Amino acid sequence: MDVAGSISKIKEQLGENIRLVAVSKTKPIQEIQVAYDAGQRVFGENKARELVEKYGNLPADVEWHFIGHLQSNKVKYIAPFVALIHSVDSFKLLKTINQEGKKNTRKIKCLLQFHIAEEESKFGFTLTEAVAMLSSPDFSDLAFVEICGVMGMATNTGNRAQVRKEFKMLKNIFLEIKGEFFGRQDSFSEISMGMSGDYEIAAEEGSTMVRIGSLIFGEREYGSRES
Ligand SMILES: *Cc1c(COP(=O)(O)O)cnc(C)c1O
Repeated sequence: MDVAGSISKIKEQLGENIRLVAVSKTKPIQEIQVAYDAGQRVFGENKARELVEKYGNLPADVEWHFIGHLQSNKVKYIAPFVALIHSVDSFKLLKTINQEGKKNTRKIKCLLQFHIAEEESKFGFTLTEAVAMLSSPDFSDLAFVEICGVMGMATNTGNRAQVRKEFKMLKNIFLEIKGEFFGRQDSFSEISMGMSGDYEIAAEEGSTMVRIGSLIFGEREYGSRES
């Protein structure tokens, strides 16, 4: 199926309450433009440099999301325009995002990434680590970030029961953190989970945002779901 056809099919499946982030990493501008012309406005990238280049070459109303592991020294490149950083995985990174938000006089929206998979290599907080951060006085000083929810990646496995269990875990983490720290903030509302291979399970388990690449644009020539 072509890009436009895939997007409309996925959107139809997701319904109105789950947003589609089209993961365009490694894909050229022209292919992203095709998705844009089909009505897609939210795109996800996982390399700061690539994101900046694409931002400069595509229409201004694209909503750019950062979805991969982000090094603190790269935050400054995306801080002026990024719409949502899905992958905040350390307090250090969050503090850097706050500094760059301040320089750009904007509040940068972020999700906290949690480690829910069995694989060792996945980045992300444990619940204990996140609670420690959110309870610390340093955290309440951060005026230029807005925590809008959580993100996670399930284990890359054909075992659908396990994937479902991991998504349920992320949903529970979301509810616990919302209850303890963000109860009165409507903006803490996002659960970013689900990729090409598992988004249907994620949708059933309460995802509000799925991040889909290969199902829309075809297989990537390089890059991996880790990076
Ligand atoms: C690449 C990537 C995706 C999309 O993966 P697909 O399997 O191609 O849909 C989603 N989330 C993150 C964090 C990624 O790096």
